[in-house]
Amino acid sequence: MNKKIKQDFKVLQNIFKNARTKKHTCLICEENSINSHLLQKNGILNLISDNNHITQIKGNDFFKAEKEGIIGVKSVGINNAMSYPLFCNSHDTDVFTPIELEEHNLEEYKSQLLFSYRSLCAEVRKKIINIDIFERVKNSSQFVINTHLLDLAKSQIEANNMGIQDLNWYKNIMESEINNSFITQDFIFEKIDFDFIPISASAVYSPLNPSEHTIEVLKNPENILNYLFINLIPQEGKISLIIGYHKSKSDKWILEYICSWKNLIQLDFELKLTDLFATKIETWAISPDFWNKLEPKNIKAFKEYWNEHATDLRVTQSVDFNLFE
Ligand SMILES: [Zn+2]
Repeated sequence: MNKKIKQDFKVLQNIFKNARTKKHTCLICEENSINSHLLQKNGILNLISDNNHITQIKGNDFFKAEKEGIIGVKSVGINNAMSYPLFCNSHDTDVFTPIELEEHNLEEYKSQLLFSYRSLCAEVRKKIINIDIFERVKNSSQFVINTHLLDLAKSQIEANNMGIQDLNWYKNIMESEINNSFITQDFIFEKIDFDFIPISASAVYSPLNPSEHTIEVLKNPENILNYLFINLIPQEGKISLIIGYHKSKSDKWILEYICSWKNLIQLDFELKLTDLFATKIETWAISPDFWNKLEPKNIKAFKEYWNEHATDLRVTQSVDFNLFE
């Protein structure tokens, strides 16, 4: 590595470190945010932990991706697992009380919406942090002549801002439902149960169709993209998929995709999960013992798929391996 590249890396490393450790305010009020868990420890993550750890699969930032690949696999203490700086202490407690109780009822609209709201907020926070990173890159004296990186930073800032705009449309509607005791219910959720498998996920996903979502369509602020809210919640003896969308933001693909999770035999369920984790969402967790027992060739295929297709958001992707066989 020549001296200039080394310096570039050092500056980037600092930028990522500063962006990651920066204090954030609550996504609802002006107070400082604490680390909010997407899925709580008691009653959910403890069901898939070994020695108080879970294995978290997470997209790496591009500095780490250079060294370790795009997708990162690491063992995380259960207290820090699947958490982001989202809300202040009182909002983190008050808003989510109905699903923090051990006996949360996943059949209830209220629970389904709250899990989805929290994963939506995590996506907003990730995008805020991305913008911060690329603003720092853009403003750094280190990169003033690196037009390739500056162009990348500008387009990333633009893309993340557009994403936040869309997500805020959903966030506002969800918050008004939460504040009005769920009198209006504009989201449609399905709960589908499967045999227990020690994994969990909490994510949002916007299906992009290359024939429909041209750059012009994506750039038009009038267009709010359709989003799916996807939660995989382990419980005693089973795992529930909670999947939903806003009733005015659905299309044939979304309806068929949700249907495709129904009445599956175990092998098909494993293939659906592999497709979900390889092509659609980038943050999920799995029991460390279970991860270690997966076939090395399938883990290799999964990581290779990520390294080749990380920026591919199209619904037309398909994978030809089963991570869980
Ligand atoms: Zn707050």
